[in-house]
Amino acid sequence: MSGSDNDCIFCQIVAGEIPSHTVYEDDQVFAFLDANPLAPGHTLVIPRDHHERLNDLSDDTAEALYAAVHDLVPAAEAAVDAPASNVGFNNGEESGQEVPHVHGHVVPRFADDGGGSIHAVGGSAPDLDDAELADIADDIAAQH
Ligand code: AMP
Ligand code: ZN
Repeated sequence: MSGSDNDCIFCQIVAGEIPSHTVYEDDQVFAFLDANPLAPGHTLVIPRDHHERLNDLSDDTAEALYAAVHDLVPAAEAAVDAPASNVGFNNGEESGQEVPHVHGHVVPRFADDGGGSIHAVGGSAPDLDDAELADIADDIAAQH
């Protein structure tokens, strides 16, 4: 879906109907502080238009979104004097996505902050041998 969804909390933020601590906006992208931050400077980067998943974005919107992420990663780190960050998207309900409007998380990280790495997001790890990895790689490569 493109455009705005009246029931979507992030569309309401883009429209100014719900307040946010805005850190960046252009004609395609909007970014604001997460209301329940995992760290100071935790920033959400979203397309202005309502799209549920990364898979639903046009190439043009995806490029604009990543360009904003690219700018906001160093900006968020610098603002809170963080030496590192985790950057990621929950993409679909089963991944933990709670707000069904595409959003990238930029979470500044600090030495000894008690957090984990992006490896912590997976469920039970599969035991795949090299032939199985090769099959999966072929299947992914054949998709596009
Ligand atoms: P996710 O689980 O990836 O869908 O994350 C949704 C994020 O949106 C969470 O980190 C929430 O804290 C954040 N969030 C929800 N409502 C608001 C809001 N009104 N303003 C800012 N952040 C919000
Ligand atoms: Zn929306």
